[in-house]
Amino acid sequence: ATPIAILVGTGRGAQLGILVTGPEALEQAEKIDTVVLDKTGTVTEGRMALADVAVDGIAREEALRIVGALEAHSEHPVAKAIAAWRVGDAEITGFRNHAGRGVTGTVDGLAVFAGRPAFAASQGAVVSAALADAVASGEAHGTVVVAGWDGHARAVFAVADTVRPESADVIASLHELKLDVVLLTGDNASVAQSVADEVGIDRVVAGVLPEGKVDEIARLQAAGHRVAMVGDGVNDAAALATADLGIAVGSGTDAAMHASDLTLMRDGLEQVDTALRLSRRTMGVIR
Ligand code: ADP
Ligand code: MG
Repeated sequence: ATPIAILVGTGRGAQLGILVTGPEALEQAEKIDTVVLDKTGTVTEGRMALADVAVDGIAREEALRIVGALEAHSEHPVAKAIAAWRVGDAEITGFRNHAGRGVTGTVDGLAVFAGRPAFAASQGAVVSAALADAVASGEAHGTVVVAGWDGHARAVFAVADTVRPESADVIASLHELKLDVVLLTGDNASVAQSVADEVGIDRVVAGVLPEGKVDEIARLQAAGHRVAMVGDGVNDAAALATADLGIAVGSGTDAAMHASDLTLMRDGLEQVDTALRLSRRTMGVIR
């Protein structure tokens, strides 16, 4: 394509709310053969709602007070779902976010953790049989957060998200462009598979840590693929930067925008398809 065509394509993109934030984004976009999608907030709404709380040795209110106060410091959709139900007051110091794993902090003098089940184990917490059951049944339906302190898991939160209404149509349209579509998520395999089934994605890579997302993209590249990664940026900046084309969607974070080549102003997947088709038109591949 001529520089003029690229300029026109870039201008048309801006009108549509597709911002070119990295060099050669349109040239890269046209060469993509694989689109990797983050699940939470990208394929799904990312507006999670608390569906269930199981407790062990403490009252439900106490779990919501302590863990709610801690999660109020996190931007993650699962954290927002829990923090929405916080009750009472608690003093927090030393808050720390462990990307793609969970959070820790001191709440009213207790060293509290909240995160994916494996994160609870890494904190050395004992999980009772009753809470282990709550993890298993929670994971059958959605995302699970295990929280506790003093060497014990004390609460299990089950959190549910909904698939965005346009996701299935957009994925069908990407398949029409002969693109492979992969769902890549830190969430558990069963919720990932049910989202994939609902939207028509046939490859799922679940339970990965943020650095594992980078590895997965590098693996696809090593196998000769040109990879676009689409994410809302919560925990995904490194994967966006590694991909041949990083696409940050919607109300994502600044870190995501800086790591990406394209930034889509609207939430959801619709503009991913628009952007890839625009790049092909701009580069003269389709008309
Ligand atoms: P995704 O790939 O679905 O966007 P992330 O990599 O952001 O997921 O997070 C993976 C998992 O880590 C979440 O499903 C959740 O169990 C856990 N997690 C991440 N952040 C938090 C948090 N602030 N509080 C509790 N759990 C968290
Ligand atoms: Mg995410």
